[in-house]
Amino acid sequence: MPLTTLFQSHLFDIFEASTDPIYVCSGENAVVEYANKATLNAWGKTSAVIGKPILEGVPELSGQAFPDLLSRVYRTGVPYHSENDRADLEVGGVLRTFYFKFTYQPLRNQEGAIWGVLCNATDVTELVNARKAVEDSQRDLRNMIAQAPVAICILKGSSLIVDIANEKMIELWGVSKSIIGKPLFDGLPEAKGQGFEQLLDDVLTTGNTFTALERPADLPRNGKIEQVFLNFVYEALKDSDGTIIGVMAIGVDVTQQVMARKRVEESERELRQIADSMPQMVWVTDAQGYHEYYNKRWYEFTCTTYDEVKGEGWADLFHPDDRLAAWEKWNHSLSTGDTYEVEYRLKNGSTGEYLWVLGRAVPIYNEENQIIRWFGTCTDINEQKQLQQQKDDFIGIASHELKTPLTTLKASLQFISRLIKRTPESEILTRFVDQSNKSIDKLGFLVDDLLNVTKLNEGQLSLNKEDVVLSKLMNDCCQHVRADNYIIKTVGDLDLSACIDPHRIDQVMVNLVNNAVKYAPESKEITISIEKTGEYAKVSVMDYGPGIPAEKKQHLFDRYYRVDSSGSQISGLGLGLFICKEIISRHGGQIAVDSEPGNGSTFWFTLPL
Ligand code: ADP
Repeated sequence: MPLTTLFQSHLFDIFEASTDPIYVCSGENAVVEYANKATLNAWGKTSAVIGKPILEGVPELSGQAFPDLLSRVYRTGVPYHSENDRADLEVGGVLRTFYFKFTYQPLRNQEGAIWGVLCNATDVTELVNARKAVEDSQRDLRNMIAQAPVAICILKGSSLIVDIANEKMIELWGVSKSIIGKPLFDGLPEAKGQGFEQLLDDVLTTGNTFTALERPADLPRNGKIEQVFLNFVYEALKDSDGTIIGVMAIGVDVTQQVMARKRVEESERELRQIADSMPQMVWVTDAQGYHEYYNKRWYEFTCTTYDEVKGEGWADLFHPDDRLAAWEKWNHSLSTGDTYEVEYRLKNGSTGEYLWVLGRAVPIYNEENQIIRWFGTCTDINEQKQLQQQKDDFIGIASHELKTPLTTLKASLQFISRLIKRTPESEILTRFVDQSNKSIDKLGFLVDDLLNVTKLNEGQLSLNKEDVVLSKLMNDCCQHVRADNYIIKTVGDLDLSACIDPHRIDQVMVNLVNNAVKYAPESKEITISIEKTGEYAKVSVMDYGPGIPAEKKQHLFDRYYRVDSSGSQISGLGLGLFICKEIISRHGGQIAVDSEPGNGSTFWFTLPL
């Protein structure tokens, strides 16, 4: 049998075996003459459709394009071909969407008249859906890139055609959107010759990711070429076979941050230069008190390196006797934010000698009012200290030498006054002797103060403690105070007693009450109160005088400090409160003042019970 005959006789078997739908319709109504298994499956129908017009057999096709297309091919004889046409078919009772690649071919009889249409189709639903998924994900990618908060672009092929670039990238390049679709360096010739070609080429050939931080680039900005700084990543783009097809670039323009940092670095450098040229030692610590910087003078003086003094190494340079006090003050400042100020001896690295310096540090705050650093200095006060020492020595000797003749003078005056009493007619002499006595008392107080300071300096002020009822001591001491027209009241816990040196505490009281008389002359009233606070007795001396400005209060107890040292009519050496402080601290108590200008002052001290 010839092959064509053999083929014709098995034609239907071949059609039946095909996995692609094949069917034949005849006549105007497109009666289904034949439909292979694949067709019936695709339609979701049985062979009952054979012999029926297609719209009757597959009614869900009504309203879709196929019946019209069939009838057109039938009427015109022009075949119809489609790559992927949509068909909504009811399969298994559910209407589903399919896509077919198909051909409608007119069938002619021997006379050439059209009697039907042969349709063969291929189900491309999966293919179409896969392509749609790819398109969807590409659209998602483009959307994501467009909305990304950083500059992103995709450069395709070896010529780096700008396939996608979001607004941020266009802005970063400093060009217009017309760069899209062009090779990168054609659209952005300004970027040529700055090494980017090589970097991109490396990514394209090796597939390695390249990351750059703060890389300078000259790019168009406002019609000029400006230097900008960029952080960016080049990442190779690969297709499903792993072949590199382009580069994805992600970038951020960090020019402003870099410039701001450079400005800060610049001003820091300037500050360092200033600090290095200063004759004072300068240092900076972080908020926790760890040293970050010392100026040149510090290293010259101490002959150290940063590594030797970092952490807490600096404390070794302090004189052992001064270390603890400085350390305590520094920790106090760190925890409170108070100015740090302390005198101590610092070791000179070249001579090994300890020299006196005044250490000072103030906190530096940020905009949120938090301490971010401490700025400190050490000022050389060695000469000053030596002069002070010489002065102290002189005062010590002079006051000591004055004491003996003063005592003799006082005794002589007492003797003279007794003699005068026997001759009452000499009134004038009595007045002179009284005045001399007063002056000698005054002189005596001054010399006592000076002697006390000398003793304190030499650590010779010893305490002879005994139990004392405080109110009694207060009353006795008021007898010493020459305040004739003052009302002095003692109130509070009048039975409270403490173990103290009565002579020294009397000295403190005389000082405080005398001060109230001296500095609050208008008020004429002084209240002394005694109370128990916890383990302490608290004694307060309250006056109703002019008070003391806040900024002066912290120095009141310093040696030789007087609030109004210039124009004051009131005599004094500025030693009384200093001596009081020393006496009270030797008793283990505290002394301070509460005062507001215009509202009087309350000097108080505590004594352990
Ligand atoms: P002096 O009285 O010798 O000056 P003090 O050490 O006793 O020294 O006092 C230091 C300074 O404190 C005084 O110069 C004075 O300005 C101030 N001061 C002391 N007591 C009072 C007070 N009750 N009211 C106002 N100012 C006072």
